[in-house]
Parts: sequence; structure tokens; C-alpha cells
Amino acid sequence: MKHLQLRALVADDDPLSRGIVAEQLLRLRVGSVTTAASGNAALQILQQDKSIGLLVTDLKMPDMDGIALLGRLATLNRPISVIIMSALGDKILRAAEMIGLGHHLRILGVSGKPVRLQRLRDMLDRSENIPPPKRPGDDRAATIDPGQIREALADGGYYIVVQPEIEARSGRFIGVEVLSRFNHEGLARFTPGDIILSAEQSSLIHDILGHTLKQVGRASRAWRRAGLNPTVSINLSHRNLADPDFPEWFGGQIALHALSPADIILEITETAVPLNETTNLEVAHRLGLQGFKLAIDDYGTGHANLQQLQNMPFHQLKVDKSFVDNIEHSFDARTIVSSSLQMARNLGLKTVAEGVEQAAQDRLLRDMGCDLMQGYYYARPMPADQLADWALAHRARHQRGGSQAA
Ligand code: C2E
Ligand code: CA
Repeated sequence: MKHLQLRALVADDDPLSRGIVAEQLLRLRVGSVTTAASGNAALQILQQDKSIGLLVTDLKMPDMDGIALLGRLATLNRPISVIIMSALGDKILRAAEMIGLGHHLRILGVSGKPVRLQRLRDMLDRSENIPPPKRPGDDRAATIDPGQIREALADGGYYIVVQPEIEARSGRFIGVEVLSRFNHEGLARFTPGDIILSAEQSSLIHDILGHTLKQVGRASRAWRRAGLNPTVSINLSHRNLADPDFPEWFGGQIALHALSPADIILEITETAVPLNETTNLEVAHRLGLQGFKLAIDDYGTGHANLQQLQNMPFHQLKVDKSFVDNIEHSFDARTIVSSSLQMARNLGLKTVAEGVEQAAQDRLLRDMGCDLMQGYYYARPMPADQLADWALAHRARHQRGGSQAA
């Protein structure tokens, strides 16, 4: 198959392998080939030349490595196909592929070095068949104007809501999860989940986290004055875990807002994070060293295996709402939940069920030994300044031994 329309960029710091790949691509009738001797140089070319449709990148490069380059490529939001090559072995190649897919890039394949011509041909031929990977909500998220998210952040149109978590054994309210809300005309038709997904395409997700922490700091002071000291669960983005500077910045923000790491639980979504990728592991462990607790979120929807769970310093496992939804009526969902809970217990993790809406779900989860409950059955997410009143009412209800539901 010919690829005469395709313009390729080869990024590799080794001149010999750069030359070999460029020549192979030309033999396969790729329209034109440009080369770059570093990740930074490649990024500059990609930014300037919008006609490039294929990036072939090495992983280990001196200024910007191939994994960082993939992250930057994702922010360009262009339909560029990617081939990843490295002599560092299968493990890092597979991790890089997972990271690329996590960034919604169109990964044609990965290969050791040198690549055989036939393998390169096969990968190029895939470019015509594979659609860019998508996550649900991407289409909607793609139509969100980042300028409006920025406006919301600047003009007070961003606020946090909190959703209580209840200890199953004692019925006590012990923690909250912080969720983002946007009050902006241009964002009104989008769900918070869509807006977050869109913000994750750029550094906006970082700005949102900064605003979140400031508001959590303020809310925590008010809660303490009202005699409350809940643990505070905060959702992290896969971008945070991929950023080696994140632990330092985050620790600084927590101190700045007079929060204590011991009260903070950081939720990491299972689907978003390749748990065995080196930077993620490093960032997670450095956060753990600072005293933060980590939770694996939406458990059951991704691909974490036991070894990956063991390698990450998790304290908590949150079973995904989709399983809780079906727990009453689906034998499979019940089996998945009960075995996930058992596995978590055996690994010494606290368990949380999210999306608990019905008394029957609550009962089943308690029977299965779930530690914490979260969902509309107990409370919907609420503005932070309503939490103290809610907690009072919850305690009164609980002492009367009445219904748990708010
Ligand atoms: P998540 O972490 O799985 O959060 C739980 C979602 O389920 C929240 O949706 C919550 O409002 C909803 N929920 C809780 N209990 C129930 C229930 O009983 N029934 C039903 N039907 N829904 C329930 P929300 O707030 O729309 O958030 C969607 C996702 O967006 C979150 O999923 C989280 O992954 C992400 N997210 C929200 N805020 C942030 C943020 O500040 N930063 C980051 N990185 N992600 C965030
Ligand atoms: Ca969460």
C-alpha cells in the first residue's frame, strides 16, 4: 500500500537509527520525511507544520523524552498517527502505548529497534483502518470552549460541592469527596464530567485543582469551627500523576491552605492511569511519602491487575458506581463487587461503594463487608457551606435509628 499523501516526522537522538527509519519510510512510499534530533525539536516542528500526519518517535531522548512528547502532542489536538520505537524493551514500550492511548492518540504500533521493514509496513497500513480512540463524552467535551472554563475560574463561576461518605459499621459520617461545579452560561449544557474531560486536554485541569484546593482550605476551616474534621477526597487527573513536579507543588498548596496531608485522600481513576508507568509510580509514592492517602477510583472499569495494585501505595478502593447500580439484579455485578471487596480487604485496603441510591443496595454492600458508603441514598453532593447542617441532621437521624437517607 502506498502512503504518498503522508508526511512523516521521525524523532530520535541517534542519527543512525533516525536515518534508517527515514529511509525505510521513503522506501514504503511515504510522501515526505522530516527528522528531529530531540523531543523539543520534534515538538517545534509539529507546532509549525500542520501537514504532518505521522510521528515516529524514540522514547529516550535527552531534552524531552518520547512519553512527554506524546503528552504535548495530545494538547495539539490534531489527528496525527504515532509509532513508538525503543531499544529499552517491551515493558516501557507497552507502557508508552498505554499512555498514548490514554491521551487519545492514534497509536499505530510499537516496536523495538531496529524495526523490520515488514513490521513498519504493517503499522503504516493500520493508519487507514483505525479510528482515533475515544472515551464516552469526548464528542461533547470537544465542543467545550476552554476560554469559558477560564472565564468561570476567573469570575467566581467555579465552586466545589462535597458528597459525604458514611462508615457502614458505625453509621458515622467520616469524610467527603470534593466534586467540581461550573456556574457559567456557556457551560450550562455540559455535565461537570464533560467539562473536566475537556479541561484534562490542557493545563486547565491544573488551574482547576488550584482553585479547588483554595476552596477546600476555606471550607475546612469553617468545618473545623463547626466541630467537624472529615477526611477530604480529591480527584486527581492522569496529568497530575505524569508530572514529576506535581508532588512538590501539591504539598506546597496543601501547606499554604493550612490543610493536613493526613486528612487528604487522592483519588486516581483506574482507567485514566497506567499504574505501572514509571512516572506515575514515582509521583504516587512521593505523594505517599508526604503523608497523603491514595484511592483507586472507579475500580472495575479499567485494567489494573493485582501486581499493579500492590505496587501503588493505595489505602482505599472505590468500587465503580456501574456495578453498584446493578448489584440487586445482576449476579455478575454482585460477584464482581464481592470479589473486589474481598481482594481489597486482603490487600489491606479500605473499601468504598460509590453511587449507593437504594436501601437494598446499601444492605447488600454491608453484607459484603464494604467499609464506606457514598451516594444519593445518604446525600447528594452539596455546597461546602451546607455540610455542617447536613452532618447535624444526619447525626440526629442516626441517633433516632431512623432511615439513613437524607
Ligand atoms: P467520580 O469520581 O466517579 O465521582 C462520582 C460521580 O458520581 C459524581 O459525578 C457524583 O455526583 C456522582 N454520584 C454520586 N453519588 C451518586 C448516586 O448515588 N447516583 C448517581 N447517579 N450519581 C452519583 P460528577 O460530580 O458529575 O463527577 C463526574 C466525574 O468527574 C467524577 O467521577 C470525577 O472523576 C470527575 N471529577 C469531578 N470533579 C473533579 C475534579 O475537580 N478534578 C478531577 N480531576 N476530576 C473531577
Ligand atoms: Ca472520585
